[in-house]
Amino acid sequence: MPSDRLPDIGSTITIEKPAFNLLLSRLKEEGYLPIGPRIKNDSLIYEEIESLEDLPRGYSTEQKPGSFRLVREKHARYFDIIPGSHSWKQFLFPSRVELFTLRKNGKGWENTTQPAEIPSYAFIGVRACELAAIQIQDNIFMRSDFTDPIYRARRQRVFIVSVNCTHPAETCFCTSMGTGPRVKELFDLSLTELDDVFVLTVGSQLARRLMTGIPFDDASGYILTNVEHRLNHAEQQMRRRLDTSDLPELILEHLDHPYWNEIGKRCLSCASCTQVCPTCFCWDTQDEMSLDGKTAKRTRVWDSCFNPGYSHQAGGNTRPTIYSRYRQWMSHKFGTWKQQYGTLGCVGCGRCITWCPAEIDITEEIAALRNEVKR
Ligand code: SF4
Ligand code: SF4
Repeated sequence: MPSDRLPDIGSTITIEKPAFNLLLSRLKEEGYLPIGPRIKNDSLIYEEIESLEDLPRGYSTEQKPGSFRLVREKHARYFDIIPGSHSWKQFLFPSRVELFTLRKNGKGWENTTQPAEIPSYAFIGVRACELAAIQIQDNIFMRSDFTDPIYRARRQRVFIVSVNCTHPAETCFCTSMGTGPRVKELFDLSLTELDDVFVLTVGSQLARRLMTGIPFDDASGYILTNVEHRLNHAEQQMRRRLDTSDLPELILEHLDHPYWNEIGKRCLSCASCTQVCPTCFCWDTQDEMSLDGKTAKRTRVWDSCFNPGYSHQAGGNTRPTIYSRYRQWMSHKFGTWKQQYGTLGCVGCGRCITWCPAEIDITEEIAALRNEVKR
């Protein structure tokens, strides 16, 4: 196909896989820093990528409660993996951000804070549930009455290449949350990987422009049917379910149920679930003073409702027990979040299940609470 033709917004095209490297080069020329999934220390992380060769080609992931494993496969596909503990949250809402630094100046203090250099990120391989999580955090950090300047500065130039999931993990339940596995909106380019080609739907003017000079074909009926078939198959493959029909009432009307004590005996209050969750947004500030007393710094850090210090306030700790902290987490995600932001706070990515060392599975806990309430 002549390379001077550009695809229309909303159109679906195919490119040969090596041509994706041209797209990455274009993004870099436009000042973007491509971030994608990479294998490091036998795990899967999100980090800067240079080319397709950095992606986890020929792998899948096996995920179970408390367990994550990379599996070498015979295929040569790049996007058959399901993400690990990393999420895009760490780039938009970083785990540590310096808020200000002050230096003693005579009798007063001088603000010596250096403006942070914020890259323009190109996220490569954003899953449908992860897009839903970004949307949830947009609603939190960019409200009409308040916008977090750190989040906004990082979010406003992000270029998103989403990926349709064709091989969900055992811990995924995005179909129950209405967030996946197919990507519907909020992308610049939406990608589905077939054996020989990448199928791309063009979602923005910038994505269209970036296709300049990149050879492509319009997706044939056969290709579109193939994509549809794979996505339907992925939906059917997803066995894990979460019944949301009686949420948030099930939780909010049974906050004193003895079942919370039972969960409290198994939970370690390690906070892993909140750290890997792409929607959790609790934070704290830490102040540091240099030993000579001449410099002071304030840093924003991720916090968690599972940390005892999080609910410590004048008069003591309002959630001194593990069961009360677990109840806070679950009743916020699946209860009061809806009152605050209009949706539940979970997108069904399954990370909290995979990365819980006690193998606590939120879908099973909600089902168990429901059964206990009925008894
Ligand atoms: S539910 Fe699991 S991951 Fe979360 S705090 Fe408890 S033990 Fe840790
Ligand atoms: S609560 Fe668990 S499944 Fe839901 S979005 Fe957070 S990590 Fe994913």
